[in-house]
Amino acid sequence: LLGADGALGVTIFEEITLLSGRHNAINLGQGFPDEDGPAVIREAAREAISAGANQYAPGQGLPVLRNAVAAHQERFYGLSLDPDTQIIVSTGATEAIAAALLALTGPGDEVLTFEPFYDSYGAVIGLSGAAHTTAPLRAPDFQPDLATLEDSFSERTRVVLVNNPHNPTGAVFPAETLQRIVELAAKYNAVIVTDEVYEHLTFGPRHVPVATLPGAAERTLTISSAGKTFSFTGWKIGWLSGPADMVAAVRAVKSFLSYSSGTPFQGAIALGLGMEDEFFTGIAKTLQAKRDVLSEGLRAAGLTVFEPQGTYFVNADVAPLGITDATALARRMPELVGVGAIPVAVFCHDDGARRTRSLLRFAFCKKTEVLQEAAERISKLG
Ligand code: PMP
Ligand code: GLN
Repeated sequence: LLGADGALGVTIFEEITLLSGRHNAINLGQGFPDEDGPAVIREAAREAISAGANQYAPGQGLPVLRNAVAAHQERFYGLSLDPDTQIIVSTGATEAIAAALLALTGPGDEVLTFEPFYDSYGAVIGLSGAAHTTAPLRAPDFQPDLATLEDSFSERTRVVLVNNPHNPTGAVFPAETLQRIVELAAKYNAVIVTDEVYEHLTFGPRHVPVATLPGAAERTLTISSAGKTFSFTGWKIGWLSGPADMVAAVRAVKSFLSYSSGTPFQGAIALGLGMEDEFFTGIAKTLQAKRDVLSEGLRAAGLTVFEPQGTYFVNADVAPLGITDATALARRMPELVGVGAIPVAVFCHDDGARRTRSLLRFAFCKKTEVLQEAAERISKLG
């Protein structure tokens, strides 16, 4: 967890955002959209503030939001959840991930993630005292190798932390892969914690939550967030659902992390979760067009592009430009050509970092003209 200078390091997202700001660069590093989410949701938060919803919400979250999460899981996935005992609201998905891992694991346990892995996973596993084991996702499709997946499990595997759709690669795991993960989790008596914050950001078949698969619900905690679906990353409203006993354990930890989460935003997000189907299909359609614009631009600039099936990130290889160290490049790129991007190696341990040494992750949740300009600037690297 310690940075090279002995202090807790800033995250790579902050680092690239700061560098991009300093050099007035287009920031395709940190994943946040450059347009806010629906006005009706913003208006609902404003009204809630005016109406006095400004003191602590109940620790488990406002009933209106827990009910809306239950209704959303039923409507999209046919999952039936008790909003009083099986759902809690969190301060973004980040807090739910931390609370779940701290509740479930400790020294002597192993937590298995796929690699590359979202940066907070490594940090929180470190805080919990558990060991972090990984199963590799390799280019070009970044899918787990089902033939060898069991090698990553052991009697000490306490949690399998799944992220689907996957950040940073944009991979979407098919149902057979998820089912194999469930079988192995059952065999090794592990809990599945699944981070599905990009559930509505998929460009192929509709998202399959792990919890809907046979044998999964009783051992799965599902996490999502309003940040990605509704383009309100700054509101930090997330939620977690699963079996009542596990949810109670996570809630106990949450009580001492943040206690409760932004009151006026909760009702507004409840409204969002109830929006018509066209809203949800519209997000994916808009993003798919942006994905295509940036992918095309990066290809034209000479990079090898690994087309994502979900999320708003695209990975690309700069090796064809004769550049082998994408981390060094990412630190210089804002100044060099005026674009910020994240090196994929920062989401890895040593082996994974070697495999992904020349890969960059670009966020495409930006206006089309911004993406075109960024690609144009990147073409100057070659
Ligand atoms: N998980 C993944 C995979 C993410 O990409 C992110 C970034 N949004 C988070 C969790 C954190 O979500 P939140 O901002 O809701 O804490
Ligand atoms: N989830 C966002 C990303 O992957 C960043 C969130 C953060 O800054 N920690 O870019």
